[in-house]
Amino acid sequence: MDLGIAGKRALVCASSKGLGLGCAQALAREGVSLVMNARSEGPLLAAAEAIRAETGVEVTTVAADITSEEGRARVLEVAGDVDILVTNAGGPPPGMWTDWDRDDFIGAFDANMLTPIALMQALLPGMMERGWGRVVNITSVSVKSPIAVLGLSNTARAGLTGFVAGTARQVAGEGVVINNLLPGIHDTDRATALDKGVVDAQGITMDDARAAREATIPAGRYGTIEEFGSTCAFMCSQHTGFMVGQNVLLDGGAVNTTM
Ligand code: NAP
Repeated sequence: MDLGIAGKRALVCASSKGLGLGCAQALAREGVSLVMNARSEGPLLAAAEAIRAETGVEVTTVAADITSEEGRARVLEVAGDVDILVTNAGGPPPGMWTDWDRDDFIGAFDANMLTPIALMQALLPGMMERGWGRVVNITSVSVKSPIAVLGLSNTARAGLTGFVAGTARQVAGEGVVINNLLPGIHDTDRATALDKGVVDAQGITMDDARAAREATIPAGRYGTIEEFGSTCAFMCSQHTGFMVGQNVLLDGGAVNTTM
């Protein structure tokens, strides 16, 4: 299927590794030029170079913390007018509901709710003016099914989901569609860190922690960044103009629900 987005330009946040990298790779393979971002410059430059070498698309990099005002301003200045926005940032630390104080919540809100909202506020007007745009927010399965140890994620991402639900319907008439992509467990550094938390808490091996998690997934395995990226690219395509404000779950069937 031709996604019809060759020649478009995308900002993919937090994209030197993991799910963001999967999205950047998949968009580049469709001929979309990229602005990629992450905090550490080395892995970001390496990821960008690999994408250029594979696809030949133009890739610009901005090493910056997307959750800080200063970092976001630099990313937005370099990005300029983009047709596609993929929002992403690191996830909050695990813990118990009794652990977190106001500052912890503010940190999670900044990273996983207010940052994607600020990026949309900055870029939606240009997309609306040009009559075409796609936004995919990388959120989490925690929006549909809370993850006990990730209460900060459950909370902040629920707020973003509410913002998107209302806003997506206010911009759809101008050719701009906003949807959220909800990862269940995928094979990334983040998943390794979460498994390490289980290892430390339960005194088991990494293999055992992974096997126990895989046993909770009907697909019997972790997702790949390629699968995630391909789904993201489809959500950014010409074919999704009628798909507005949806929460697309990619979790190997882990959330046991009919709808
Ligand atoms: P990952 O493998 O750890 O990769 C995170 C990427 O984001 C790296 O490129 C990292 O580079 C960049 N990054 C992190 N914080 C950033 C910041 N403040 N500003 C700019 N770039 C930043 O993580 P992932 O698994 O892809 O997860 C991505 C998001 O999906 C997270 O919010 C995570 O909670 C969520 N999620 C993941 C899973 C999963 O199974 N993997 C499941 C549900 C939800 P630098 O460190 O150099 O900045």
